[in-house]
Amino acid sequence: MIGAGYVGLTSGAVFADLGNTVWVVRRDAGKIEKLKKGIIPIHEPGLAAIVKRNVKAGRLIPTTKYEECVPFADVVFIAVGTPDGKNGADLTQVYTAAAEIARNLKSGYTVVVDKSTVPPGTADEVTAILNKYKKKGAKFDVVSSPEFLRQGNAVEDTTKPNRVVIGSASKKATVLLVKLHTPLKCPIVITNVRSAEVIKYTANAYLSMRIGFIDQIANLCEKMGADINDIIRGIGLDKRIGLHYWWVGMGYGGYCFPKDVKALAALFDKVGERDNLFRKLDQLNDDRAERFAKKTEKALGSLKGKTIGVLGLSSRPDTDDIRGSVPVNFIRELLKLGAKVRAHDPMAQENARREMGDTVAYFPDPYSLAKGVDGLCVVTEWPHFKKLDLTKIRKLMKGKLLLDSKNVYSPERVRKLGFTYLPTGR
Ligand code: NAD
Repeated sequence: MIGAGYVGLTSGAVFADLGNTVWVVRRDAGKIEKLKKGIIPIHEPGLAAIVKRNVKAGRLIPTTKYEECVPFADVVFIAVGTPDGKNGADLTQVYTAAAEIARNLKSGYTVVVDKSTVPPGTADEVTAILNKYKKKGAKFDVVSSPEFLRQGNAVEDTTKPNRVVIGSASKKATVLLVKLHTPLKCPIVITNVRSAEVIKYTANAYLSMRIGFIDQIANLCEKMGADINDIIRGIGLDKRIGLHYWWVGMGYGGYCFPKDVKALAALFDKVGERDNLFRKLDQLNDDRAERFAKKTEKALGSLKGKTIGVLGLSSRPDTDDIRGSVPVNFIRELLKLGAKVRAHDPMAQENARREMGDTVAYFPDPYSLAKGVDGLCVVTEWPHFKKLDLTKIRKLMKGKLLLDSKNVYSPERVRKLGFTYLPTGR
């Protein structure tokens, strides 16, 4: 497993738990040494225990060296990062990994799998790189098998996936990968390579679009005196639509959705479809943080010199990852408008500090943060934010503004406590 981040480490640990021998490769020796002791570099519920027991059993082997594992592997997964680039996904890590894999391929047969999210056509590029650098006698097939896990839920999503997609032009490679995934007892969708690559972007773009869509309707609700929660019930009971996955708020965030929608929009541009839905979706989502900062400003008259408390720094609960973070974007907009910002997150604080430095003051809990603030903004749905003692919070605050971007509180109750309450779309 090349790459031992959220995807590589989780998949590697789960494959090891199924009885396979798995090497996980990453470049930073310090983190590999920690992994050898069962200490994981990320927060994912349940992952540390699986890593620990499989490292101890010798089934999960962390290493920095391709030569220690690639020549012995039947399957090599590429699970490195594919961040947002200048014009679509930046594939540098994938291509670097492919070249390293090529130099270490054994003589004989290996399946190389693109697990990273990569634009259609990438498997062809990876094939070309493998052919360029491989030794004589090394044979391989490149397969696309994208990952669908959600951060904060990675172990559950990997042990019980909704489906596994295998995009392959080789029967031999398909048989091997089906065998590897069969113990997961989930549907396996077998396609050609390009379709598998497109499936991943389609899934992420669709989920992002549901969020972008309901955010737009929330804007309308605020102008028309309608209630987004009622709208969701009213549409969601239609079986064609469903009640699930309507996440109203400051837009979609996290590592994947923003960069994958941007990459898809860039791909449409590239194939001459400039007038596409995804460019607009991306732009509307990017504007969302500013919209909420202005909403806060309007409620307080001005943000100059005002102290605003922000609860939540990662886009979703149960992760310490702040890549593509909606709260971080929101904080940056608040700062532009002259606010002094305080923040609290039970897990993502250290990563946020690295990203935003001392422009923000960090607090160990919501109550110490609330003391003396002019406004409080709840941005991430951590369960303990939902259960806050709002009577105490109201007394601690200097002002009375409560922005509830995810609609976690009851408007009647909050207003009764004397807050100026700003929910979303209601
Ligand atoms: P990550 O940044 O957490 O992990 C990437 C890992 O690759 C890091 O450990 C890094 O050190 C390592 N790496 C980079 N270049 C390397 C190289 N040449 N050799 C060895 N190791 C190298 O990223 P992630 O969140 O695990 O995402 C990986 C891929 O999976 C991305 O394409 C992402 O879009 C996709 N994906 C992510 C998620 C998610 O929720 N995080 C879900 C589905 C798909």
